[in-house]
Amino acid sequence: MKTRTPMASATPPISPDSLILNQVRDVVRDRLAPLTVKIDEGYYPAEVLRALGEAGAFRQHLASHNGRNTFDVQTALAAMDVVSQECMSTGFMVWAQDVVCWYIEMSNNDHLKQTVLPKLASGKVLGGTALSNPMKYLAGIEPLLLTATETDDGFMLNGTLPWVSNLGSGHWFGSIFKVVGDNPRDVMALVNTDWAGLELRQLAKFCGMEGTGTYAMFFKDVFVPKNHVLGDPLIPYLKKMKAGFVLLQTGMATGLIEGCIELCEAAELQFGHVNCYLDDRPDELREALDDTRELIGELCTDVFNPKPEFMRRVLEARLLGSELSLRAASSAMLHTGANGYLHDAPAQRKLREAYFVAIVTPAIKHLRKELDTLATA
Ligand SMILES: Cc1cc2nc3c(=O)[nH]c(=O)nc-3n(C[C@H](O)[C@H](O)[C@H](O)COP(=O)(O)OP(=O)(O)OC[C@H]3O[C@@H](n4cnc5c(N)ncnc54)[C@H](O)[C@@H]3O)c2cc1C
Repeated sequence: MKTRTPMASATPPISPDSLILNQVRDVVRDRLAPLTVKIDEGYYPAEVLRALGEAGAFRQHLASHNGRNTFDVQTALAAMDVVSQECMSTGFMVWAQDVVCWYIEMSNNDHLKQTVLPKLASGKVLGGTALSNPMKYLAGIEPLLLTATETDDGFMLNGTLPWVSNLGSGHWFGSIFKVVGDNPRDVMALVNTDWAGLELRQLAKFCGMEGTGTYAMFFKDVFVPKNHVLGDPLIPYLKKMKAGFVLLQTGMATGLIEGCIELCEAAELQFGHVNCYLDDRPDELREALDDTRELIGELCTDVFNPKPEFMRRVLEARLLGSELSLRAASSAMLHTGANGYLHDAPAQRKLREAYFVAIVTPAIKHLRKELDTLATA
């Protein structure tokens, strides 16, 4: 399968009052906010995700579905940001849904573009991404966990992945596997959770992000038809879609940071006379967030730039998002004091969510390794 270079066009500036963002805000206020604590405790909010899809949250970066014929990553991020301000678990699932759409959009697979993409882009069906392990494999951190044998019309997959999110019955996810045999290579394809031989097990209980529909996946002779291949050869396909994949994660961070700043600001009336002795005051965090959003917005206008220098800036922006998330969440804890330490307080939930921004692939340590490799190349 050949990889085509998509038409890259500049992203138009978005207005915070745009219809799409207002519709997303309505879903967040009316449907998501009443469930935030329940989601933190383990409830998977499929109906909220579908409502976000109907509002247009998952199709903004898709030139084929947003009606503007441009890969508007910035508006996709703005929608994720709005969601993550309230609940970053849901913001993470918005990312998972956004990237599974991105995988198809960036492929040459017309079959998936016609059959599956419209349903994912509108939120009628849900899905995610099993790319943590492959990303770490490609960065020289660990071996690839899925192997496959090739048949005339597909691949037979075997192996185990410890955790993949935004899953349930009938969900789709992107996956990379090592083909062994006469024509060894790595291939990426779209897989459905209902396919024979694939078992989902909820083995772990996490200290946060519990409502994200996260499962361990066991593959025993799972047949993936060739008309579900996304990238083969893999590397040119990954090069094309990687900057968008990484940049799309930054909406979780900016939304979380915004939410933390608002918590600090809300505590000001009562505790301003003593909170003024703290570090990372809301105005300092706001300045850093504004700069980060500006940098991300600029990078979004050039997502198909193939230069290593551009990828370095994308990885640095993602790292900045992780580091600022940790600072902002820590500051929200200190600014809100004992109130933030209550069982259902937003500050302590945001602290746990911030650590997820820092450990989800590419984790801080992974980003620093890739940046180090780029610097010495
Ligand atoms: C709530 C949650 C949701 C996630 N959702 C996704 C997703 O949608 N898609 C996706 O691809 N990845 C997902 N991950 C994985 C995530 O992106 C990281 O890969 C993971 O957090 C470990 O990253 P690390 O770089 O810190 O590796 P480390 O924690 O340093 O781990 C190194 C390796 O050991 C494995 N490992 C560590 N502890 C365990 C364990 N208890 N059981 C089995 N293996 C273990 C890790 O997976 C990793 O491969 C999720 C993780 C969590 C906690």
